[in-house]
Amino acid sequence: MSSIPAPILELHDLTVRLAARSGPVTAVAGVTLAVQPGECVGLVGESGAGKSQALLAPFQLGAAAAQVGGGARFEGGDLLALDGAALDRIRGRRAGFVFQDPMASLTPHRTVGEQIAEVIEHHGAGRGAAARDRACALLERVHMDVPERRFHQYPHELSGGQRQRASIAIAIACDPALLIADEPTTALDVTVQAEVLALLAALKAERRLSIVLVSHDFGVVGRLADRILVMYAGRLVEEGRALDVMTAPRHPYTAALLACIPRMEDRPEEPLMPIPGQPPQPGALPAGCAFHPRCAHAQARCRVEAPVLAPVGARTLACHFPLPA
Ligand code: SF4
Repeated sequence: MSSIPAPILELHDLTVRLAARSGPVTAVAGVTLAVQPGECVGLVGESGAGKSQALLAPFQLGAAAAQVGGGARFEGGDLLALDGAALDRIRGRRAGFVFQDPMASLTPHRTVGEQIAEVIEHHGAGRGAAARDRACALLERVHMDVPERRFHQYPHELSGGQRQRASIAIAIACDPALLIADEPTTALDVTVQAEVLALLAALKAERRLSIVLVSHDFGVVGRLADRILVMYAGRLVEEGRALDVMTAPRHPYTAALLACIPRMEDRPEEPLMPIPGQPPQPGALPAGCAFHPRCAHAQARCRVEAPVLAPVGARTLACHFPLPA
């Protein structure tokens, strides 16, 4: 009898409240998700949807003074019950992180080799020459050209793509079970973007690495994710198999995001279809469905009654009037 593996990461009814001048505002409201071993989950939505806070706040890497409620378990343990020292043993060792701007996450006055070796030593995965050898091997694994030379270079001496490869080398230095990649390709040109995504796909396959890929860009997430979750205004609004969500979105917001992506077959005279208006600010959500002021399918019920996230066939949706299957 085959048993279902336990999720690497589970969020249950997670809420994140952030300090604002007018008082705490809810940035994440009731997010529930699970990431299985070897699975890539894509979390998509516009800036400010709460994607990063939902993933980073349980590891105490989100905004300062964030109040986190609900449940968050990592490899079976209660993340929200851990103190700083216990979290330090998970972050960088069992859970790796890659961020949008490697210049901000790398230390400018230390060589990339030193920074990788430091993580290895900090988590007890090697010392001295062994740590340096491992760092060099990691630079080679992330396809850094001439890794022995790159080892001795500072972040400012590398291109954006090389810096992001160095960040990935740090994130996988201790062979983590989970990689959280928060907009990892946003600052890169399309060619380098494709190379970095191919690298993440290879790491996922060879290490059975679980990945959460956070992005505003369906084009990025669609290349790697097995499952896609869409967030709007701090809430999940659609979840399903990546191919299903990409080819037949059922939530009007998901469909609107996909309609914004330029496609090769588009005729130049056909304008792109931006979503009208702006996402609401946390703490100032409209009544009813938070997407209703921007939704082309909104009806009277949408303006007064917030839809509840619920299974609809093989999908999970928060919409009173889902698009046809
Ligand atoms: S509930 Fe109504 S307003 Fe909200 S996404 Fe669905 S159709 Fe649009």
